Amino acid sequence: MCGIVGIADAGGVSFSLYYALYALQHRGQESSGISTFDGTTLFKYRGHGLVAEVFDESILSGLLGSVGVGHVRYPTTGERIPENFQPFCFTFRGKHVAVAHNGNLVNTQELRDAFEERGQIFCTTTDTEVIGNLIVDELRKSGSMEDAVLHCMRILRGSYSVVMLVDGVLYAFRDPLGIRPLCIGKTPSGHIVCSESVAVDAMNGTFIRDVKPGELVRLDANSISCRQIARCRHPAHCVFEYIYFARADSVVDGRLVYDVRRRIGHALADEDDIRPDLVSPVPDSGIAHAIGYSEQSGIPYREGLMKNRYMGRTFIMPSQEARENAVRIKLNPVKGHIAGKSVALVDDSIVRGTTSRRIISIVRDAGAAEVHMRIGSPAIKAPCYLGVDMPTREELIAGNRENEAVRERIGASSLRHVSIDELIHATGIEASDLCLGCLTGEYPLSIGCERCSERRVDFVSGTYQSGLAAFDDR
Ligand code: AMP
Repeated sequence: MCGIVGIADAGGVSFSLYYALYALQHRGQESSGISTFDGTTLFKYRGHGLVAEVFDESILSGLLGSVGVGHVRYPTTGERIPENFQPFCFTFRGKHVAVAHNGNLVNTQELRDAFEERGQIFCTTTDTEVIGNLIVDELRKSGSMEDAVLHCMRILRGSYSVVMLVDGVLYAFRDPLGIRPLCIGKTPSGHIVCSESVAVDAMNGTFIRDVKPGELVRLDANSISCRQIARCRHPAHCVFEYIYFARADSVVDGRLVYDVRRRIGHALADEDDIRPDLVSPVPDSGIAHAIGYSEQSGIPYREGLMKNRYMGRTFIMPSQEARENAVRIKLNPVKGHIAGKSVALVDDSIVRGTTSRRIISIVRDAGAAEVHMRIGSPAIKAPCYLGVDMPTREELIAGNRENEAVRERIGASSLRHVSIDELIHATGIEASDLCLGCLTGEYPLSIGCERCSERRVDFVSGTYQSGLAAFDDR
């Protein structure tokens, strides 16, 4: 996962990009970067760590220009080396280019091999550099960005939401299946394109709409125009964005994530056969699901665990041991709420099972009589190849285990997941328009030997549409 943003604004953009990245910090904590263009020079600054750790006022003041792109990184492909921090910047025939990408390609190696065969050198190990090369390859022939994006959409396989600065013109495009989110907004004196609507809110802006799957958008401070490059009857929006990854206050592809999570909680309560004394979330990821469970069941919502909000996510700790110890520092039980009680503990998902096991033992040590785990996703059975950092099948606790074996391993009194059908219902999106790969092991495009229901993509010719008419269809 990663968070991306592009802003064109009548004033300077570096501070706005900084605030937008702050709003997208949950999408990646490994590195942060900003590139801006002032008409002649491409300014760039990237570093290891959180947005607030990488930038300060003097750095931001030095990033000049009224257009720019930014990125927060959560590594999926590519090693954790500074060269891989984005935006990825280069010059081509005097044009200054900066690219930021969210997603994961499944044919990176193949494309890279083909470039290297021709003697092409690479500076990073990311798939973003492959996208940059494909764009340049086409720009070299036709000089047109539309052709370059068409070329990308024909050749790239996988998920990609991209923002790109080419000599001061801001472009954004989203893969034909719309796997990762991307949306556009109006700011007080310009435009923004970003992974999630919370970044539009952070600008005090107005949400316009999602970038459509297969669409290319061109923005400057005064205008936006869009062009449909590819069309797919059935997109494959990632269901995990709704379960866990996106911020609850974001609207992703027309759905408020918080509401989806509450509805998942309703379904969990409807399907349940226990009557615990209280419903308690695993903070913060299980809060909206737990509120939904409590609303539907009438069982009181009470926080049984308090989170130390000054710690990073346990998942990004470098080793298994560090991850395990971090949970205790991060979460403290509210003994007065849970001692002697039967608790329905609600979380968004179980991946490796490490977090659940530790949390259940914390709640039991605090005196809970019963700990019933209720999970806002179906069991995760298969890896994600399309941008969510998920382990291999062997490392997934439910990869090769039935529910009862998982329950025993995590030490819960009972364990229930929302069903796939209820989850789909909660999103309000047709199953045929979602990627459910991590739950079903069937992916929307062919990936190695995995099962696939390939979705047909058609390429369309057309021209840019501009003005409100192009944007008011949602
Ligand atoms: P675990 O079962 O120990 O692997 O941890 C699962 C918890 O980590 C979930 O409850 C989520 O809150 C969170 N989580 C799930 N998927 C991811 C991911 N791809 N990256 C970071 N955290 C995640």
